[in-house]
Amino acid sequence: MKILVTGGAGYIGSHTVVELLNANHDVIVVDDFSNSNPKVLKYIKEITKKDFVFIEGSLLDKALLDNIFKNNKIDVVIHFAGYKAVGESVKKPLMYYDNNLISTIYLLEIMEKYKVYNLAFSSSATVYGTPKKLPITENMTLHTTNPYGTTKLMIETILNDLKKSNEKWSIALLRYFNPIGAHESGLIGEEPNGIPNNLMPYIVEVASGKLKELKIFGNDYDTKDGTGVRDYIHVVDLAKGHVSAINYVNNNVGVEAFNLGTGIGYSVLDIVKSFERVNNVTIPYKIVERRPGDIAECYADVTKAKKMLDWSAEKTIDDMCRDAYQFILKNKD
Ligand code: UDP
Repeated sequence: MKILVTGGAGYIGSHTVVELLNANHDVIVVDDFSNSNPKVLKYIKEITKKDFVFIEGSLLDKALLDNIFKNNKIDVVIHFAGYKAVGESVKKPLMYYDNNLISTIYLLEIMEKYKVYNLAFSSSATVYGTPKKLPITENMTLHTTNPYGTTKLMIETILNDLKKSNEKWSIALLRYFNPIGAHESGLIGEEPNGIPNNLMPYIVEVASGKLKELKIFGNDYDTKDGTGVRDYIHVVDLAKGHVSAINYVNNNVGVEAFNLGTGIGYSVLDIVKSFERVNNVTIPYKIVERRPGDIAECYADVTKAKKMLDWSAEKTIDDMCRDAYQFILKNKD
């Protein structure tokens, strides 16, 4: 199939492009490098020994989008492009609503114009807000606690309305849990700007000496050791989930949401211990106040993705910790 990947130079996007090329799909990437690095394109080619089309630009550029669809017979779009930092979205909500919503609407308008109705959308488990029960199933009530999450939920709503307007649409809402790790080559991985907000990028910077110690946000949650529990998923497993999702949307119609996680919850201390063991390092940490807005526990019921996408995560927490650190060691400069 010919797949258009928006935001294909980003963290999850780049790993997905690798898996799409490995599965012999034709890939067109569009990315404006607003939160990614051009060198990633070279590394994707190095890993896969395959080529793909790259177009530099923003989805807000309607003429550019129109040209892409005019000149290519696209079968499926995978839509990653968008701002993704929760904290920043709280400080700059208009920037998040403007960029994430408008760019998606432009993309959908062009897809409609060129009668391309197959879409896999990069959503997030953040649409479940504070879950009322665990594990989280796709049919649970949705609500959000920050503008980033609200853009994801709003786009899900738009996509549901779109399907009601035209039965040809086939859309997978892919709700990611906590993607971590890196490609085993060590060539592509997560490169956050500035001081990381998320747990694993922070741990790797402590391990490599860039940051002094990890601050663990609370050890008084109602969890097995008091620290927050999340469903961490290896980014390569997550990328493979997209390959399954495009096969699904190509053969079905309607809108379906899928949890992409492992179904297993690990605490912050579990992650620290695993990271120390597999990488033979020490991660100094101290317990600090809870981070406002954090929930105690979050993990997926992954039955639906297994059944309908024939996909499940395979890599272990040790794989995630090892690959995340290897990537940083290889890219220290
Ligand atoms: N966490 C932490 N210290 C950090 C970053 C995160 O203790 O520097 C904890 C956080 O409270 C949560 C877990 O690690 O329990 C995962 O946080 P992350 O920001 O990676 O993901 P999210 O909270 O968005 O699921």
